[in-house]
Order: sequence, then C-alpha cells, then structure tokens
Amino acid sequence: MKTPRSAAIYARISSDQTGEALGVTRQLEDCRGLAAENGWTVGEEYVDNDVSAYRSSASKPRPEYQRMLADLAAGYRDAVIVYNLDRLTRQPMELEEFTRLCERAGVTQVKSVTTDIDLGNDDGLFMARILAAIASKESARKSERLKRKAQQLAEQGMPNGGYQRPFGYEQDRRTVVESEAEILRQIVARFLAGESSRSICAWLNEQNVPTSTGGQWKTMTLNAMLKSARIAGLREHKGVVVAEAVWDPIITKDQRERILAQFAAKRRTNTRAPRRYVLSGLLRCGKCGNKLFSAVRVDTRRYVCSSGPDHGGCGGITVVAPPLEEFLSAAVLLRLDTPGMADALAGRRAADEQQSALAAELEADEEQMKVLSQMWAAKEISVGEWKAAREPIEARIRNVSRQLAQLSGSSSLDGLIGHGEQLRESWDTLNLDRQSAIIKAVLDYATILPGTPGSRSLDPARIQPVWRL
Ligand SMILES: [Zn+2]
Repeated sequence: MKTPRSAAIYARISSDQTGEALGVTRQLEDCRGLAAENGWTVGEEYVDNDVSAYRSSASKPRPEYQRMLADLAAGYRDAVIVYNLDRLTRQPMELEEFTRLCERAGVTQVKSVTTDIDLGNDDGLFMARILAAIASKESARKSERLKRKAQQLAEQGMPNGGYQRPFGYEQDRRTVVESEAEILRQIVARFLAGESSRSICAWLNEQNVPTSTGGQWKTMTLNAMLKSARIAGLREHKGVVVAEAVWDPIITKDQRERILAQFAAKRRTNTRAPRRYVLSGLLRCGKCGNKLFSAVRVDTRRYVCSSGPDHGGCGGITVVAPPLEEFLSAAVLLRLDTPGMADALAGRRAADEQQSALAAELEADEEQMKVLSQMWAAKEISVGEWKAAREPIEARIRNVSRQLAQLSGSSSLDGLIGHGEQLRESWDTLNLDRQSAIIKAVLDYATILPGTPGSRSLDPARIQPVWRL
C-alpha cells in the first residue's frame, strides 16, 4: 500500500464528564505517534471543540471535521488518523457519508489508535460499520447515564432544572419568597375550606397577584401548584415523592395530604355531576327543536335551550328541572304498568336480534370509508370521486347508527314491566344512572313548549312526550 503524502489527524474535545474521555492533548500525541510508526507525514491536525459527544452532527456542526472532509475531497489529504472511531463519527449515518467521501476521493487509509481500519476493502468497511453502531449505542447508554444522574439528584432532594420559577421560590428553586409564600398559605387555607379552584383564581386575579411568570391565574396552573410536592418541601421525580427536599416547605405535609384527599373527592363528585340531570339529552325545545341543556340559573336546576356557537338553539325555552323530572319519571313508571307493555317489550326484543346484523353492517361501511380514504391518499381516485363515493356510505352509516341507538336500552327494563308500582316506591333510592337508563328505555324524547310567563308551577300541557314503548 502506498505511503500517504499528507495525512489528516482528527481530534475532538468532548465535555463527557464520566472520566473515560481522553484529553485532546493525549489524543493528538497518540495519533502523532501512530503516524510516525507508519512513516506517514502529517499534513494538518483538525480539532473540534465538541460540547456534546452524542448530539447528531445536524444539531451540532463540527467545523473542523467539515473542513477535513473538504480537504480530503479536494485531495489535499489522503489519509486519516483518529484516536478512536467514535471521535470521528458517532452516528452510523455519518460513517456512511464519511466512507462514501473516502471512496470518491480514493482515500483508503484510515487508522485509529485503538483499531486499525482499512476502508479500502469490504471487511474494513464492515468493521467500521459495526464500530459505528456500537458507538451509537454507547451514545444511547450515555443518555441513560444522564437519566440515572437526574434520578440521583432527585433522591438527594436537589431541585430539578427548569426554566420557570416555581411560585413561592426564587429562581434558584431553593430560596423561599416570603411574600408569595404567605399568599400560597392563604390559597391552601381557602382550598381546604372548600373554595373552588376557579373562585380562588378569580380572587388572585382580582388582587392582581401574578403567577411566577407574571401571568393570570388559571385553574390548571393553580391545581398543579396545589398538588405539587415541592410546596410541602418534598422532591418529586416522575410523579413520585422520592426524598425530603433541600429547600424549605411552605405548607405542612399534613396540609398536602388533605389537599390531595380533597382533589380525589372532587374527582369522584365531578364524574357524578352531569348525572344530576336525569333527563339530559331527552328534551327538545318546542320553538326550535334543539336539544335542551342542563343549567343552573338563580340557584335552581333548569333545562334550557341554549343559543350561541356551541349549542345553536333559539334560547327561547327554559323549564325548571325538579317538577319536570318528577312528572316524566311518574309517567314512565305508569307506562311500565300499562297493559300491552310486555308485548311491546317482546316486540322490541325481537328487534334486538337485528342489532348484531346492524352492527356488522356498520362495521363494513366504516371499513369501506377507510379503504376510500386510502385510495385517495394513494392518488388512485380524485377528491371529487372520493366525495361522491363517500356520500351514500355516510348516509347508510347515519341511518344504521340511528337504528342501533333505538334498539339498545331495552335490557334496562329486565324484570320491570308490570312492576311500575313497586318501582315507584324505590325510585328515589335508585342512582341517577339507573333512573336515566329506565327513562331512556321508555321515553324517546319530550318536547317542551313555551310556558306562561310568570307562572310558578309547571303546566303539564307544556310537556309532549314521544314514547319508545
Ligand atoms: Zn329553542
């Protein structure tokens, strides 16, 4: 093999703090030694000050490496010496670029102090690829080490990094800001006294108390702060308290426990809240036909026709909830005892058998819609063709869905037909889900007509039920 005229030495300083990295001086000395051993003349030394050894070249340009590549391509250098292959490239992609360049420029001699690689033959290239793959894996291991380091810091109770200053603490995330700590204690007291997050936010914004970033309080920000372990002097890591923190607490651990218990209790009631309205989804506006929505107005539960972008109703109907619920529940229970009800239910049961057939139909239609969109994505059909083909399928899906909705629900009535009288006695003890299921099985919907303004009691003539059974 020909002795190179002018070899390049490449070295890279890495900020690797694990202690295994060699200083650049040592790298260069070893490389020069290797050049001398082989009788190579060193043309130039290229040294990059690389901050991170495992960022991709795209995010971290290495100007000296690039300059060396240009010199190799131009024929100014005809061999390369590096300490280790991982000084040269850490990504398999980079290695491919490097070897392609060497191939084009006729550079076959690439030596490293730790491994002798000859890129001029397939074996050498294969070896280099393996080493690059290992180096890339090593990068991954390194970030694993960083993760362990973060875990370790957490376990020592040290603060995490983070751009935003936590409310109540200085930017160093350790020193308590006493004025904010005082406000935080008031917030906690109010919350533990049962005040809602929404109301506390409103209070803070009224008092012109900014968040740590100078913004307005939102319930999400407030709740995150209340739930954080930090304010009780605890260090959290990945959602788990791992240590006593090095910083001072603003509230006690006991207060923290009570805050968490209160959030848990709220979660439980919140899931029940929509069910306070047993007729949800079953009422229609007598003026515009829109669905009525539940709403609290002046401390009274009501169903209303809502105007506005989310609802699009006329806003012209309001009905007080409790008497209406009482009326329709009683009507449903009476219908359960109506002669012929059992027959009607039997008929519905027969219809239930269609359910699986309809479900299969629906699935097939939905599958076909998927195929159509794939064909469009693959440019096998135009947008126009796609739309035209979609319409009849969509119409079928709507139709079948409607039929399915009407079929379901009859099992709510198992054992109840003819027992409306007994059910009436236990009605108030049933939970709202159960009540609602029974009503839905019998009542399709009820239209609510406008009432006489000023009337205090509910006029039954305003209620027009449409029965399913
Ligand atoms: Zn309306």
